[in-house]
Amino acid sequence: MPNKDIPPPKVLGVALPTPVRRLFDYQPGAEPPPSGWHPGQRVRVSFGRRELVGIIIECRQDSEMSIDKLKPILAWLDDTPLPEDWLWLGRFTARYYQHALGDTLHQTLPVLLRQGRPLAARTHERWQLTEDGKQHSARDLGRARRQGELLALLQQHPRGLIHSAITAQGFTRHQLEGLRNKGLAHRQTEPLIVATPPRHVLAEPSLTLNQEQATALAALHDGLDRFSPTLLHGVTGSGKTEIYLQLIEAIIGRGRQALVLVPEIGLTPQTLARFRRRFQVPVVAMHSGLTDAERLDAWLAAWSGRAPIIIGTRSAIFTPLSAPGVIIVDEEHDGSLKQQDGLRYHARDLALVRARHHDIPVILGSATPALESLANARAGHYRHLRLTQRASRHAPARLELIDMRGRPNRGGLIPPTIDAIEATLNAGHQVLVFINRRGFAPTLACQACGWLAECHLCDARLTLHRQPPQLVCHHCEAHRPLPDACPDCGSADLRPLGAGTERTEETLAGLFPETPVHRIDRDSTRRKETLEKTLATVRRGAPCLLVGTQMLAKGHHLPHVTLVVVVNADAGLYASDFRALEHSAQLLEQVAGRAGRAHHPGRVLVQTLHSDDPHLTLLAEQGYEALTEHILEERRIAALPPYRFLALARFESPRDDEVMAIAESAAQAVQAMLDQHRHNPTQCLGPVPAPMERRQGRYHVQLMLSSTHRSKLHESCSWLIDWLETSPYARRIRWSLDIDPQTLS
Ligand code: ADP
Ligand code: ZN
Ligand code: ZN
Repeated sequence: MPNKDIPPPKVLGVALPTPVRRLFDYQPGAEPPPSGWHPGQRVRVSFGRRELVGIIIECRQDSEMSIDKLKPILAWLDDTPLPEDWLWLGRFTARYYQHALGDTLHQTLPVLLRQGRPLAARTHERWQLTEDGKQHSARDLGRARRQGELLALLQQHPRGLIHSAITAQGFTRHQLEGLRNKGLAHRQTEPLIVATPPRHVLAEPSLTLNQEQATALAALHDGLDRFSPTLLHGVTGSGKTEIYLQLIEAIIGRGRQALVLVPEIGLTPQTLARFRRRFQVPVVAMHSGLTDAERLDAWLAAWSGRAPIIIGTRSAIFTPLSAPGVIIVDEEHDGSLKQQDGLRYHARDLALVRARHHDIPVILGSATPALESLANARAGHYRHLRLTQRASRHAPARLELIDMRGRPNRGGLIPPTIDAIEATLNAGHQVLVFINRRGFAPTLACQACGWLAECHLCDARLTLHRQPPQLVCHHCEAHRPLPDACPDCGSADLRPLGAGTERTEETLAGLFPETPVHRIDRDSTRRKETLEKTLATVRRGAPCLLVGTQMLAKGHHLPHVTLVVVVNADAGLYASDFRALEHSAQLLEQVAGRAGRAHHPGRVLVQTLHSDDPHLTLLAEQGYEALTEHILEERRIAALPPYRFLALARFESPRDDEVMAIAESAAQAVQAMLDQHRHNPTQCLGPVPAPMERRQGRYHVQLMLSSTHRSKLHESCSWLIDWLETSPYARRIRWSLDIDPQTLS
């Protein structure tokens, strides 16, 4: 409603999809939208030579520019502003991650809305019998035999049928119109995703919870009406998902919505099917596989409240909700929740911020919580609910370390491991072999002179692939044919060094010719159906061998696997990135969680060259939580997150001297600023070359800002950005800022 007391604005501050961190002022056009001008309405404007879709952020009476010089907007697109909660979160995100608001809003909006399409969901026709139609029988229609059959069909469906379902049965629009003309049927137009009456929430009964689950659910029920963050820390298979489902049932019963975030790898057809089996109400999925039209439908269904359950990957955190009731972040430790380019947000952290804003509960679920979350739980900021038993009552398998030193290996596997595989297959069970490297071998080496195949564009080795035969850089995707001879010395004795999934697969196929071997990695599953098909075969339970990368480590239920083999556990132990150990422990624990899920106890064999490494032995002997306590103590001493806040500025350029020089002057400028502001405890470290300095032919340098105070860190970051944006020097290179970086690479 136009408010008579407030004069119409003379200036509209509009957010536009550009990297520039400010609003652009326009004059309103001649004709305002019927409800007047409001923040959140989309407008079309001219910008330079282009036309852009922007979003009104401010309605003002003044501008820093002279108002007459401002261009008028070309057209308004919305009378109804875009959702308030979405706009609020977008503004928070832009501020927190120091990203341009226009670009932030643009990126978090469905593509069709970015393009200026109307806020309208697709619809279809639903046909139902009228009261009169319900009284008639097919015979009454006499010679109109097909109309009679159509009447009988609709009588079987009291809630009606949609047009396409009717024509799929061979009926025509003509026949439908025939019934309508006789007053027997009527049609209505409705959105594809339509709300179901609230009394029909469940489609199948819930499971009876075990004691631990029941205690956890009861605790969650206490806190449904306020901001209450909970860490649901339960071993793999302990029934966390069942708790989510039962909690969501209660939330829907209160007329509210549930937003569930899962890692990319976790949004499988099984997960979705499990939610859809349980609930009769619409469960909408938000993921990259949707068409633009489907995504807009889902978004609008969430915003209008027609969809009470929204399940999606990280970007789903920006889905508008009409009646938010709970946010659940499953596998909250997972790296895919953080966007690693452009707008570098962390969906888990935004989930907490959003839940606080709406004053609703937020649940972080994981078998291997992130250290940040564990530290928050320990400090009393989150409730810490534990599930220690599997729903199937088996204790989770322990890791058994197997010393690889001095032992011959075939395709990465040493004799005791091979014996264990054989025994498991003989017992009629399945084996999962985890190897965190796809391809045939990590590289190709010359036996005569020691030459190694290296990428010309990156500081990295090329991976040898056999299917098809070629050398591939896993960092820049460069492909190269296999050389016939060593380019340095001409020797023909070139051999693969180490093992990747293809080589282990080949070895296992040779050792166990009777048993099917399924390889699961990015190469073998380029097509989505391949993965689903393989997993369906595996779930049928016949003995088999599975070889795979971390695609296999997460999310999938593999009830017949009773032996898990980790080919090499050492990658994360001595890496330079301070989070590598945490991530590596999480991965090991997740892989181990695949063993013995159903009725068989499992074993997990972990091959290592460092069987006396203190971190690894602590993990094997006392488990993930004991290790995290130890790592947290190390982080405290080293002044690293979660005890300090970090931001990483990354600089890149094709010229190594240039990128380093500019990063150095940025560092000096920040340091000079910090020296003047002694109350700001932020430290500026670097610049240093990135761990992989050269990637795709470009040189990477980084500068770290570290602080005990988040607000001071943010002040320093925005100072640095201002400096970079105004320094003519910095224009020559690419730079980006990563608040709370998850990796230092
Ligand atoms: P998580 O999410 O912790 O990995 P799930 O909820 O997926 O665990 O449960 C693991 C398995 O145990 C599933 O097959 C699930 O159907 C079953 N399950 C969970 N809770 C119960 C229960 N209370 N009674 C029987 N089976 C259960
Ligand atoms: Zn050579
Ligand atoms: Zn490369």
